[in-house]
Amino acid sequence: MEYDVVIGMETHVEQSTRSKMFCSCSANFFGAEPNTNVCPTCLGMPGALPVINQRAVEFCIMVGLALNCKIARHTFWERKSYWYPDLPKGYQISQYQYPLCYDGYIDVDVRDLSSGNWTEEHYRKRIRIRRAHLEEDTGKLTHAGNSSFVDYNRSGVPLIEIVTEPDIASADEAYAYLSALRDIVRYLGVSSGDMEKGALRGEPNMSLRPKGSDTFGTKVEIKNLNSLRAVRDSIAYEIKRQSRLLDEGGQVRQVTMGWDDARGVTVTQREKEDAHDYRYFPEPDLPPLVIDDAWLEAIKARMPELPLEKNDRFMRDFGLSGYDAMVLTRDRATAEYYEKVVAALSPHAQSEKVAAKSAANWVTGELFRLMSAAGASIEDVKVTPAQLAGLIRLVDSKTININTARQVFEEMFAGGQDARAIVEAKGLAQVSDEDALSKVVEDALNANPQQVQAYLAGNEKLFQFLVGQTMKLTKGKGNPQVLQRLLKAALDKRR
Ligand code: ADP
Ligand code: MG
Ligand code: ZN
Repeated sequence: MEYDVVIGMETHVEQSTRSKMFCSCSANFFGAEPNTNVCPTCLGMPGALPVINQRAVEFCIMVGLALNCKIARHTFWERKSYWYPDLPKGYQISQYQYPLCYDGYIDVDVRDLSSGNWTEEHYRKRIRIRRAHLEEDTGKLTHAGNSSFVDYNRSGVPLIEIVTEPDIASADEAYAYLSALRDIVRYLGVSSGDMEKGALRGEPNMSLRPKGSDTFGTKVEIKNLNSLRAVRDSIAYEIKRQSRLLDEGGQVRQVTMGWDDARGVTVTQREKEDAHDYRYFPEPDLPPLVIDDAWLEAIKARMPELPLEKNDRFMRDFGLSGYDAMVLTRDRATAEYYEKVVAALSPHAQSEKVAAKSAANWVTGELFRLMSAAGASIEDVKVTPAQLAGLIRLVDSKTININTARQVFEEMFAGGQDARAIVEAKGLAQVSDEDALSKVVEDALNANPQQVQAYLAGNEKLFQFLVGQTMKLTKGKGNPQVLQRLLKAALDKRR
C-alpha cells in the first residue's frame, strides 16, 4: 500500500546568551569542569529567586519574528512539575498556555539529497509553526556502570522550544526545515546551532497514513538526533519500518524511539506512558511578561535580512543560480563576504551581474575549495574581499590567465598578500605580445613535427596537445586566446 508521511518537529534551541535564563551564571558551559557554573538559583535551593534574562526574551522574539509568528504581548511563566535528578527544583520554568510566539510559518527550499549532493532542483515548501516559547534547560546525566553523574552547568541555560504543525511530508523536508532553522538562529546570533554539541535538538514526531486519508496514524517520536543526516536517515528508516508493519496488517505502537547511528536503526526507548500530569501553574516568583510597543519595535529594527530573503535577492538582482544563491547565503558571514567582493568588483565590471557571477565562481569554487582543504571558516580567511576583487580584475584585464590566477590565489590564501604584489614579485604577468608568442608557436611546431603531420592529416584532437606545448614554453604565462589564434594560423599556413 502507498502511504503519506506526516511529521511534526519539536526543536530545542540552546541560546548563546552570556548568562543563564534566571540567574547570572555563565550560559557557556562547554568544556567547563562539572558543577562550576552554578549558583543557588540554578541548583534549585529553597528561597533562591529567579530573575528574567532580558536578552533571552529578545532572542526568543527575534526567532519568533523570523518564523513569521505573532508575538504575545502579555504572557506569564509556568511551572512544569516533574521529578528527575537532572532537574534540581523538581520543576522547569516554562511557558504553556500562552507561548511568547505563536501561529507562524517558515518557507524552506527542499532538495533531494539522496545522491549526497546539493542539487539545483528544488521546491519551496511552507511549514506552519504552532509555537515558540522560552524555558530553561536541565542539567546533564552521565551513566557509567552502576553509577550516575550529574552536572548542573547546563541547568538554567535559556532554551527556545519550537513546535511545527504536522506539515512536514518527507525525510528531505525534515532535513530542509531543520537546516533552515539552524541557519536562521545562526544569522540572528541566537545560538551556535551546533547539533553535535546539543545546541540544536530536533525531535521528529512521525506517522503514516494510507495515501489520501485524512485521519492521522499513530505517531512515534524520535529523540537523540545529533546531526541533520541522522534526522533524515532515522525518518527514512522509520518510513520503511512502519510501512512494512502496516502492509503486514500490524499496528504502530506509540513509543519514544532513539536513533542508533552506528547501526542505522531506531530503537524503542519507552512505551508512551499515560499523559503526564505536569501540574502546570503560574510561576509565583516571577512577574508576568509584558512586551510593550517600543520594545517590540526596537527588536524588529534589529532584525537582519534572513537567509531565504538574501537567497531570493541574490537570484533576482545578481542573476545567480538557485544553487549558487543557496551556498552563498546559508552562512551570514559568507554572504557578507561575497557581497563585499561584488561591491568592490562592480565599478570595474561590465555590469553588476557580470561582477556577481565571477565573484560567485571564485567564492564557491577556489575559496570554498581552499577553505575546506584547510578546515578554515570564512572568519579565518586572510584574503579580504577587496583583495579577491583585485585578483579577479587582473584576470579580467588579461594581466594573468586563469591558471596563474588560481596559483596566485593559493598564495594569497596562505599569506594574505595582494594579487598584484605576487604577480610582480614572481614575474607571472601574462604574455600577450604577438611577436613573442609567434616565435613560441614556431618553436613548438618545429619541436613536434610528427604531431603536426598527424594534425594536418586530419587528427584534430592534436590541436590541444600543441596548445599545451606552447603553454609549456611560456611557463604557463602565455595568453591562451592569443596562442590558440596564432597556432591555428601557423598550422593553416603549413597545409
Ligand atoms: P504530544 O501531546 O504527544 O506532545 P502534540 O500535539 O504536542 O503531541 O504534538 C507534538 C508534535 O507532533 C507537533 O509537532 C505535531 O505537529 C506533531 N504531531 C501530532 N500528531 C501527529 C501525528 N499523528 N503524526 C505526526 N506528527 C504529529
Ligand atoms: Mg507536546
Ligand atoms: Zn546560576
